[in-house]
Amino acid sequence: MVNKKSILLDVDDVIVDNAFLDAANNFNNTKYTEKDFSGYYIDKEMFNEETLPKYYEFLLHYNMYSNCRLIEGVEEILPMLAKENDIYICSSCVCKGLERKSGIFFMNKFNFLVEKFPFLIPEHIIFTGDKNRFSDFDYQVDDLLTNLKNKIPDKLLFTRHHNKEISKEELDKDNVKRVDNWQEIYEYITSRK
Ligand SMILES: [Mg+2]
Repeated sequence: MVNKKSILLDVDDVIVDNAFLDAANNFNNTKYTEKDFSGYYIDKEMFNEETLPKYYEFLLHYNMYSNCRLIEGVEEILPMLAKENDIYICSSCVCKGLERKSGIFFMNKFNFLVEKFPFLIPEHIIFTGDKNRFSDFDYQVDDLLTNLKNKIPDKLLFTRHHNKEISKEELDKDNVKRVDNWQEIYEYITSRK
C-alpha cells in the first residue's frame, strides 16, 4: 500500500484570492488592489477610527466566501494532489477586531470548502490561528512566514504581494522554500516522492 504524504494547507491567499480585500472594496465602493497596500492587514490602512467599526459590522453580515475568487490553478491541481496525498486544511477564522463574534466566519469558510471542494474530508478541516503547534505533517503551504515556524520538514511560502520582499536568506533560516503558483506546489510535492 502506498504511504500517502500529509499536507497542511492554508486557505486565504493560497486557495482563495483576496477575499478580505474584495469585502473591503465592496463595503467601501472602491477598486483597490493588493498593490495599493504595504502590509498584510489592509483594514488599518483602508479605514479610520470612524469607518472601521462600520466595516466590522458589515463583515458580520457579508459572506466573503460566496462567489469568492480562487487562486489560479487551484481548481485543477488541488484535486490531483488530494488523490495522492492526505490534505488537511489549516486556516484561521478569528477576525481581528471581531474576535468574540467570529463564529459566522468559521461557518462560512467551512461551508465554502466542503461545497467547492467535495473531495476534502470534513474531519480534516482545522480552524486555528495557532498553526505553529503542528509538526506531524510532511508538507505545509501558507502565505504567512509567521505560520511556518514549526517543525514540519517541508514548508512552502506561497508568493503573494505582501510577502514577496522576504529574502531567500530569511526563508532559509526557517527552512522554508518559496513557490510562486499552484503548478510549483504540485511539482515540488510530486518530485519528492
Ligand atoms: Mg493565508
